[in-house]
Amino acid sequence: MKFHFFNANILTSGEIVSGDVVVENDLITYVGKHIDISADRKIDVEGNLLMPGFVNAHSHSPMTLLRGVADDMNLKEWLFDNIFLAEQKLTPKDVYWGEMLGIAEQVRAGITSIEECYFYYDEIINALKKSGIRCRLGLPSTFNDMKDKEMKAFLDNYVEALDGELIKPVIYAHSIYTLSEEELSILVDYSAKHKLPMSMHLAETLKEVGDCTVKNDCTPPEFLEKIGFLDRPSTLYHCVHMDKDDIRILADYGANVVTCPSSNLKLGSGIAPIYSMKEQGVNICIGTDGPASNNRLDMFKEMFLVATLNKATLYDASIISAIEVIDMATKNGAKALGFDNCGEIKEGFKADLILVNLKTPHSIPNNNIISNIVYSLSSQDVYLTMVNGKILYENGNFNIGEDIEAIYEKCQKITKRIL
Ligand SMILES: [Zn+2]
Repeated sequence: MKFHFFNANILTSGEIVSGDVVVENDLITYVGKHIDISADRKIDVEGNLLMPGFVNAHSHSPMTLLRGVADDMNLKEWLFDNIFLAEQKLTPKDVYWGEMLGIAEQVRAGITSIEECYFYYDEIINALKKSGIRCRLGLPSTFNDMKDKEMKAFLDNYVEALDGELIKPVIYAHSIYTLSEEELSILVDYSAKHKLPMSMHLAETLKEVGDCTVKNDCTPPEFLEKIGFLDRPSTLYHCVHMDKDDIRILADYGANVVTCPSSNLKLGSGIAPIYSMKEQGVNICIGTDGPASNNRLDMFKEMFLVATLNKATLYDASIISAIEVIDMATKNGAKALGFDNCGEIKEGFKADLILVNLKTPHSIPNNNIISNIVYSLSSQDVYLTMVNGKILYENGNFNIGEDIEAIYEKCQKITKRIL
């Protein structure tokens, strides 16, 4: 299939240019001035914005089912006394529908790639494959009483099945507070043996850092360094409570950090030192976390917070720019997740792109579109989302393998049942 997008404001190489984009099959094959060519479908962008789709570098999409279930409480009470209990009632089929709702919400909001962390893998993979979204799927989260050998067999089974174009595996160790040092070592060894990257929630709360210091006599990054975790290519979610020495360790090992500001604010966890990470050269990406702690899968909301929170805490509006934040939400995320040639509008790159309406009262005048993307646009302005050359959302219509009304009805019923 060949698409010709014409008359667009294109975000490419850090600036806005007017012109056309051609997509052939899964690739962007032309970015430049207006051209006359034939195509299967010609789309007049009418001066609106064509930009890379967002990479949501940390999500638990099926938690859409738990949206609003436990609000206004701290992380420990929220997770152990509410979320983990509700999750015990979920069946594999429930998770399938929750994943579908999460995918619908994300493609509606211009998200083209996700890092997914949840359980009931067969159903999640089924939903991901049906939808056509790009995903790095985290395995195994926890051990669930599995011994060393069982865990290796479990991982072998999925790692082989997942090594495809759109879905890739990552060894996901939930956190240092839910896994023992022995379990973490098993996962690190597996990751090294199979040349797989690793991911983890890290230093999300002050309590986690305090507990780690008491138990291990070191901070969470020092602990990961000690057990060899950071020798692996790694992606670390949150990283809220870190001093300069902790950040230096992550920078030295080339670890990627995923900041999730909405989740950190809503759970009262704190504000991540993004500016300090930027200064030390850490690859910073952005994630929504799950919709039980956010409660939206919306990268526009996250971008605004990433752009503004450190300005407020450091009393300096010049420390982070709009384009730096857009890079975090697009190409930095693609780099962290190992999706080569994704996250930018460039010839030869994967056709993961979105169209965003610029003709709205909150967008006009469009004299600084890059600034508007971060400070004034919203996810509801996205009107087309393409992943790998396939349109998954366009003007209210979803093309994700399930009827949107059926997804709404199933999810309503599931949440009613588990509550
Ligand atoms: Zn999370």
